[in-house]
Amino acid sequence: MKILLVGAGLSGAVIARELAEAGHQCRVIDARSHIAGNCHTERDADTGVMMHVYGPHIFHTDDKGVWDYVNRFARFLPFQNRVKTTSQGRVYSLPVNLLTINQFFGTTLRPDEARAFIEEKADTSITDPQTFEEQALRFVGPELYEAFFKGYTEKQWGCSPTELPASILKRLPVRFNYDDNYFFHRFQGMPEDGYTAMIAAILDHPGITVELDTPYVPQMAQEADHTFWSGPLDGYFDYRLGHLGYRTLDFERFTYQGDYQGCAVMNYGDRDVPHTRITEHKHFSPWETHEGSVCYREYSRAAEPDDIPYYPIRMVEEKELLAQYVRLAEDSQCVTFVGRLGTYRYLDMDVTIREALDTALYFKESISSKKPI
Ligand code: UDP
Repeated sequence: MKILLVGAGLSGAVIARELAEAGHQCRVIDARSHIAGNCHTERDADTGVMMHVYGPHIFHTDDKGVWDYVNRFARFLPFQNRVKTTSQGRVYSLPVNLLTINQFFGTTLRPDEARAFIEEKADTSITDPQTFEEQALRFVGPELYEAFFKGYTEKQWGCSPTELPASILKRLPVRFNYDDNYFFHRFQGMPEDGYTAMIAAILDHPGITVELDTPYVPQMAQEADHTFWSGPLDGYFDYRLGHLGYRTLDFERFTYQGDYQGCAVMNYGDRDVPHTRITEHKHFSPWETHEGSVCYREYSRAAEPDDIPYYPIRMVEEKELLAQYVRLAEDSQCVTFVGRLGTYRYLDMDVTIREALDTALYFKESISSKKPI
């Protein structure tokens, strides 16, 4: 079959690869001048540092199948995300762990003592937290919430944490030991030559052609038997019901001779500091040595129609609009919507790959059993 894949990010690349290996002819197009979507990495021309051009991407998963899959296409080197945060003129360890608690409260608590201490502060009247704020007050109490989450979240999402779902905070653990690894997952690492090289390897198959700087036109879908769309869901329908809301990021680049901050990611919890975080990219490749350093000061704001969409805002209003687009999508023939933009969800890379693998499998099985796709 002739397959069109709109978008050369993780979803498009993985589905193309799976279908090309099954003998299909895959045409991958992307409006940008590079593959890899928002995972794109490239070396900085001045310093040679491997840059995470659209912000930090750290690969972590508990899915052994996905871990084996990415290791087929790239050599992963060990990397653990150890984030720090600055609040009220002090630096703390994140995610909230025993060091953070002892630093913040000036204590020397042991694990059980810290658990009891935080439980005292927590609002236990909240039995089923619905909002971000309720989740924070229930699990860390007001002081840590104010210092580390409230201001950061207001900057990141442009609204009050009382309006956001608890699920956003559930991404972050709270630990009563000194484990400061940002993620829980068994497998973590960074592709030695960056994500773009990994995605180039996934796309490197005789059954796949890639066309960059190539915006989608409906004629392309007419020439194909099936389309996988990883662009914005509302974009496929020419935004006819309105725009789904996104947060976009602005990066202010600056360079430094030496080591600017000593870690890859420094968050800023205070509301009056305008940026959310600073990333120092050479620390994402700790096995490399570079004298020069490149940092991004990161600012979050509501995306205008021409901005790059980053984080889907899934609040009540957006969810209603999303439901209407999903109905349109369900009624559309010969197209499958995939990935972060195509399904309008906050997706980690491993989940994106798992879903792409499953989507490709479902497609292959549907063709062989002549089921509707
Ligand atoms: N968050 C926060 N303070 C921090 C880091 C994160 O309040 O120092 C909140 C913020 O609302 C963010 C969410 O926790 O959107 C999830 O954090 P994560 O680090 O997963 O965000 P991402 O890396 O996806 O931007």
